[in-house]
Amino acid sequence: MKEENILYGPELERTIEGSLGDLAILMLKSAEDNLIQVDANTNKKLRANELLSRAICIAKWFKQNGIGVGDSVTVSCENRLEFCIIPIAAFFVGATFAPINPDYIPRELKHVLGLSKPKAIFCSSTTIDKIIKCQPDHPYLKKIILLGNETKPNNSVILFEELIKDADPENIDEEFEVTPYDPKETVATILCSSGTTGMPKGVMCTHDSMTAYIDIARAIVTEIIDSDDPSDAMMGLVPFFHSFGFMLMFLNVIRGKLMVVISKFKPKVFLDAVINYKVARMIVPPPVLMVLLKHPLTKNYDLSVIKEIRSGAAPLGKDMERELKERFRVKQVSQSYGMTETTLGILMTPYGKSKVGSSGKIVPGCAVKVIDESGKALGPNQEGEMCFKGPLIMKGYVGDLASTAATIDEDGWLHTGDVAYYDEEGYFYVVDRLKELIKYKGFQVAPAELEALLVTHPCVEDAAVIGIPNEDAGELPLAFVVKKSGKNITEREIEKFVEDNVSHTKRLRGGVIFLDEIPRNPTGKILRRVLRDRGVKQTSKL
Ligand code: AMP
Repeated sequence: MKEENILYGPELERTIEGSLGDLAILMLKSAEDNLIQVDANTNKKLRANELLSRAICIAKWFKQNGIGVGDSVTVSCENRLEFCIIPIAAFFVGATFAPINPDYIPRELKHVLGLSKPKAIFCSSTTIDKIIKCQPDHPYLKKIILLGNETKPNNSVILFEELIKDADPENIDEEFEVTPYDPKETVATILCSSGTTGMPKGVMCTHDSMTAYIDIARAIVTEIIDSDDPSDAMMGLVPFFHSFGFMLMFLNVIRGKLMVVISKFKPKVFLDAVINYKVARMIVPPPVLMVLLKHPLTKNYDLSVIKEIRSGAAPLGKDMERELKERFRVKQVSQSYGMTETTLGILMTPYGKSKVGSSGKIVPGCAVKVIDESGKALGPNQEGEMCFKGPLIMKGYVGDLASTAATIDEDGWLHTGDVAYYDEEGYFYVVDRLKELIKYKGFQVAPAELEALLVTHPCVEDAAVIGIPNEDAGELPLAFVVKKSGKNITEREIEKFVEDNVSHTKRLRGGVIFLDEIPRNPTGKILRRVLRDRGVKQTSKL
């Protein structure tokens, strides 16, 4: 029975019954030698049959090494052509794919690898040294594989090129079979998110959630997934270790067409790639769109190839949305809303039906409600917390029943920590965030992580971190710090301490403000709203 003030998406036609492994093998075989990826920096190419033959080699190696259902494997590298081979090989044997941010420093690695406990890690030359160094802290980590044409740093490291040396794209092993497993129960990915509170957690999404998303994408963004245009290239710019980048990369493999892979965002490489590969559809976070609008280089490019702009991972300001529409004269500039915990976009807009400022409507097969503090579902134009239900919702946080139960209630509703309202036509407008999360250029920064770090400094008594608005990055982390009595330390010293102990997206780019006391409620919870107002006032004076 349909309940009042719950918005249901259209019925979802499920066309994929098997696992992602079954789907990938089917689609890659039918894509034959289509170009699947090109590296914008090196112009190296990867064809569907190359991808398939290499993934089969890696899958066989996984099997030989006892890696299968219930195990996980990880990747620590920038976006590159070998990346997609590893999750596909993992899905062939039913292993979970749990990629990590290549910028993580050993402290962060310790926490994040401890969530998914991978048996094998695939690294690039930029990450291999730190992975070798931290291996003794991770006894489950049995195999380290180095990507690319590199020399082995020591004998225990395995070269990826050796593992795929028998791959023959012209002669695919027809005997190879995907391991049978239950797509509804088996975890396909563990991706990182701090959720509504606390430290980063491992979000488990099943094969079923991901195949549901592929069916949803086929229903909503048909023109992207099933386009007949052979030159319809997608941009592989969002990091593949993040749910947004990973799902786009995987969707592209499934559609069997070209993705232009960019390892590190540089405006010139990005703009050249748009022109050279005629990237008609931009599916990127707001900071990249900011570059399209504001970077001095863009005026040198004829960007009329762009036909559609979709923003995700963070809010896109209304003014920017209008500016993009005017500047590029495209039929659709829209934003989607999603979380790592909802597989990908759960609010989206069909082509040509966007409304300025809206993140779209609930996708097929899912339901949404906006609740007040008492949990009552609200009607149109009333602000409250968005909650979602349906096949896209994660299975839970790995090894963390308490956080899972605090996020998904007994009736199966995922509480997002995001505040929104919907209009009479069911379009959603995200207006605020209740949860602790900070988003710097679309990357998650968990205040709890920085606060826990700050109080380890011998001069710091207490600390609270919030995000302050910033036009280019969305938000910047700002720390409020209470010094220990009799201790002296400068703002810069605090910033430097954080810089030395976290990856670069988490730096205190919003600055440091000293306080006598961190405002807390009677139960000790930080009053972040009070701090946010103070931070905005103080930094706008600077
Ligand atoms: P992540 O799990 O890293 O994708 O982060 C999910 C969070 O990003 C959401 O809970 C929101 O706070 C934010 N977010 C994603 N898309 C949007 C959007 N279109 N508008 C506003 N916030 C968004």
